[in-house]
Amino acid sequence: MSDSASDIASRRAAILSQAARAAQEAGRKADDVTLVAVSKRQPDARIDAALKAGQRVFGENRVQEAQAHWAVRRADYPDLELRLIGSLQSNKAADAAELFDVIETLDRDSLAKALRKAFDAGSPVPRLYVQVNTGAEDQKSGVAVAETQAFVDRMRHEFGFEIEGLMCIPPVGEPAGPHFALLAGLAQAAGVEKLSMGMSADFETAIRFGATSIRVGSALFGAREA
Ligand SMILES: *Cc1c(COP(=O)(O)O)cnc(C)c1O
Repeated sequence: MSDSASDIASRRAAILSQAARAAQEAGRKADDVTLVAVSKRQPDARIDAALKAGQRVFGENRVQEAQAHWAVRRADYPDLELRLIGSLQSNKAADAAELFDVIETLDRDSLAKALRKAFDAGSPVPRLYVQVNTGAEDQKSGVAVAETQAFVDRMRHEFGFEIEGLMCIPPVGEPAGPHFALLAGLAQAAGVEKLSMGMSADFETAIRFGATSIRVGSALFGAREA
């Protein structure tokens, strides 16, 4: 894959049309699915190319890197939407709340406490997703499947948070469909509306299972820097 601005624009158009087709085949509307362009470890030129192509919703894994990518660009694009899709340390909660419109990786009470404290001190309140560890992987963040409902309830009632959606990252090397189905079921049971699921390799599958946002990095931008 090359990475001239026009290549990124045409890959974006292709992803959007694949996503629209998957949505239609599932009896859904194309604009019910948001493309989140995952710009972690991508060079500036590619990010600028995506912006030029009209992309406005971006996902980042790390607070500091996101600040480097977006602190200045944000001023030029008032309609930008930034989403944190990597795990968040509690000591960066206030910084994350300042920068991100959406935090997709709420997964523990200590982080909820740190966010609550930041909001009470005047930080803007991002939209919040709960990350679920659907594959019960030791190395992966996220709430356990069996604890999801209770965790969402606690976020709502103890912390006063609105929970917009659930997010998952299926285990590498396993079919993703069952994980997407599981997340959709958990969301329905907990009365949560949105589903962040699906990446470059499986976003069409995720849309069939109800994804409302797909997180696509390499298929859009090309391979990441080491
Ligand atoms: C890096 C990353 C992505 C994008 O992965 P690609 O396979 O490059 O599309 C999506 N979601 C999360 C949480 C990520 O960390």
